[in-house]
Formats: sequence, C-alpha cells, structure tokens
Amino acid sequence: MRAVREDGRALYYLDAGSIPVAVHSLVGKELTLEATGKRVCNGCQKEVEELFRMGYCRSCFFTHPAAGASLVSPEKSTAHLGIEDRDLAYEQALQLQPHVVYLAHTGAVKVGVTRAQQPETRWLDQGATEAIVLAQTTNRYEAGLLEVHLKNYFPDKTQWQSLVKGSSPDGVDWNAERTKALEHFQPEWMAWVQELDGPWRVEYPVLQYATKPSYLSLEKTPEFTGRLSGIRGQYLIFEDSRVFNVRGHEGHEVRLRVRS
Ligand SMILES: [Zn+2]
Repeated sequence: MRAVREDGRALYYLDAGSIPVAVHSLVGKELTLEATGKRVCNGCQKEVEELFRMGYCRSCFFTHPAAGASLVSPEKSTAHLGIEDRDLAYEQALQLQPHVVYLAHTGAVKVGVTRAQQPETRWLDQGATEAIVLAQTTNRYEAGLLEVHLKNYFPDKTQWQSLVKGSSPDGVDWNAERTKALEHFQPEWMAWVQELDGPWRVEYPVLQYATKPSYLSLEKTPEFTGRLSGIRGQYLIFEDSRVFNVRGHEGHEVRLRVRS
C-alpha cells in the first residue's frame, strides 16, 4: 500500500492489476478481504508454500540483498568499506547515498533512519503524525551510528497498539526533543546536524480509532468482513477494533470486495 500526502492529508493506494485502488476513499465502507491461498515471494517472485518474513521465502530472506543485515540495522552497513554482505553492487547503490536521521511521532517520539531522498514516504509508511529531520549523513552507515547512539534516549520501534488507538502528538515540543537528541552528540557528528525545519505534519483518514485493538492475521482468518473506520501507516482499522497490517501480509494474494 503506497501513501502520498496531499494538502496535509494521507492518501493511500493499493496496486491491484493495472488500476490502483484509492483505499482512503473506502473508509466508512464494508470490506471483505479474502486470502486466495496463493503466496508469492518478494525476492524470487515464485509462488511458495510459506512466506518466512517480510514477504520473503525462507531462502530469499537469508540470501536476497534487499533483506541483508543493513536493512534492519543501518549500522551494519559495510559498503563504504567495500565489504560485501550479499551483493556489493546492490549494497553500494543503496547504502552510499545521503541518509537522514529523524524523530517522528508514531504514538510516541521515536528515532529512525531513511534515505534522504524521500523521508515523507517513510513517515507515512510508519503512521507518523509529525516528524523532524535531525541530521543528514553521506551514507547509511553514518546514519546508523547516530541511530544506535540515539536509541539510548528514544525508542526505535513503534508500538502498533498505540498507533491504531490514535495516540495524538498534542503538545510535542520539537525544540526540546531536538535538544535532548543533540545533547550527547559527539563533536564530529555536528557537521551532519540540520536546522530545525517543520515539524512535518499529516492527518490520516480515520473516522474512528480502535479502542481494544486485535490483530487480524490472514493465516488464521483467511476471510473477514468489516467496516473500515480508518487507515494509519500500514494499518487498516475496522469499526470493531480489528486491525489489519497490509505490509505484514505482503506476498499474499488477496481478493478485496467492497459493499457499496
Ligand atoms: Zn524467494
């Protein structure tokens, strides 16, 4: 599911065949999601019996360059040293480009790293309501170093429950958060620090957040029907507090029906 920001609002699209579905326009409608049982690996693009993690079959998860160590742990990047993890050319293209270290509100203020090209895509993907860029580095490894340091002061994971319960960022003092983040920076990192700009803000298409969220899994519930009450990050939130993580089901073929 892709998200874009228009006039301060998040809009969501699902690629279904040749025509993208505007998922944000389905909020308020009754949807049926049905897993056909077909699973396609994100790496080898083959139909597989089982998806292991992140939409990859077991073999691809352990060998595909897109699922290498630096994906989850930027500080494990080694392309700047010319050292290959799985595929050096692939890793050089990905890692040897400017990255940003940011703070984002995703139910709480967290730290994260992403390519400098389009942090907004990342923030929308994570369901952040506000965010600021702290620093910009020349490669992924340097950004990873800063993130490891900042994990002493900020979480780096999002609690999905607080995301779908709609914990709002009322009163985040970004000046104070930024000061807290930079307080223990080493002098040689200061050249990467960016001026405070923003915060970047977005509103999600939500009529009603979940009160007691329960996680829908297509492995356990291959078909379900519910009224869509909102979307935040990769989560579809249903009226009865069930939530569906679209990214978490990558690789599953799903039939979507909308009752108008
Ligand atoms: Zn595979």
